[in-house]
Amino acid sequence: MQERLEQILEECRKYTWEGEVADYIPELAKANREEIGIYVATDHGEFFAGDWEKQFTIQSIVKTIFLMLAAQDNGIQYVKDHVGVEATGKPFNAIDYAEHKLLREHINPMVNIGAIAVCELVKASSNDERLERLLNYTRDITGNPKLEVDHAVYLSEKRTGHKNRALAYLLKNSGMIVGDVEELLDVYFAMCSVKVNCQDLAKMGMLLANHGKGVKSGRQIIPKADARFINAVLTTSGMYDGSGEFATRVGLPAKSGVGGGIMANKPGSMGIGIYSPALDRKGNSIAGIKMLEKLSREMDLSIF
Ligand code: GLN
Repeated sequence: MQERLEQILEECRKYTWEGEVADYIPELAKANREEIGIYVATDHGEFFAGDWEKQFTIQSIVKTIFLMLAAQDNGIQYVKDHVGVEATGKPFNAIDYAEHKLLREHINPMVNIGAIAVCELVKASSNDERLERLLNYTRDITGNPKLEVDHAVYLSEKRTGHKNRALAYLLKNSGMIVGDVEELLDVYFAMCSVKVNCQDLAKMGMLLANHGKGVKSGRQIIPKADARFINAVLTTSGMYDGSGEFATRVGLPAKSGVGGGIMANKPGSMGIGIYSPALDRKGNSIAGIKMLEKLSREMDLSIF
C-alpha cells in the first residue's frame, strides 16, 4: 500500500500544473502549487506520501465539522428543518437568492450560505464560546490537540470576505440568523482558517468511516446515525457543483476546501487526507481528485 501510494502521487504530480491556486482570499495565493500530499488511515495501518505534513487551512472542509457538531447539539431533524440537504448544483459562494424568497430547504450545508447558518446552530452562549467549542471539537475528531487558527489567513478572509458577509446578511434578513452577524462571520472565518495537514483530514475521515467511533480509543465520538447522515450529505454535495462528476469518478463521501485539501472516506474501512492547492474552476483540487480517482479505481473503493 505504501509503495502504491507513492506511485500514485508521482503519477499525479503533473496535474499540479493544471488549474490555479485560490487568490480571492489574498493570503491563500501564497500557496506553493507544486506541493502534493496524501495520507491514508485504515484500521490495520497508516500510509502516506509526499507533502502530507504540510499545513494548510481547512477552508470548506470545516463545513463538515459545523454540521457534525450542530447535529450532535440539536439532532439531525432539527438541523434538516433549518437547512436543506438538497444539492444546489451551484457554485459554493452562489448568491442568486435576491430575486426570490430565501427558503431553508434551498440552503444546503455544504455551500457557504448554508454553512454560515449551520454554524449558528452550534450551541453556545456567545460567539467566543462557539469558536472555542468548535476548535476543541475539531481537535477531538482529528485527534490532534495542537490545531490552531492561522491568523494571517483569518484576517485576510475577514478583510475581503464581502460576499460571505452579503450571504450572512441575506440570512439575517430572512430570520435565519438570530444573533450578531459580524460575530458569527468571525467564527466562520476563523474556523475556515484552522491549519491542518493530510493526517488530520485522514483521521477525521476515518472517524466517519468507522461509524463515529475512535479507532484507537473505541470511544463513540459522534453517534453512528450522525456519521451516516454526514456521509450522505458529503456524497451528494461535498464537492459543490462537482459532486455528481466526483461520484461517478471516485464514488466516495468527500469534502473539499479552497486551501487545496480534500477529506474523503470509504465507509467501514478508510480515511483519506489530500493536499494539492491548484484548483479547478469549481474550487476543487485537481491533482487531489486525480489521486483519489486512481486510488479508488485500483482498490475498488467506490461505494456504488
Ligand atoms: N473560507 C472560504 C469562503 O468562505 C471557504 C470556501 C471554500 O473552501 N470553498 O469563501
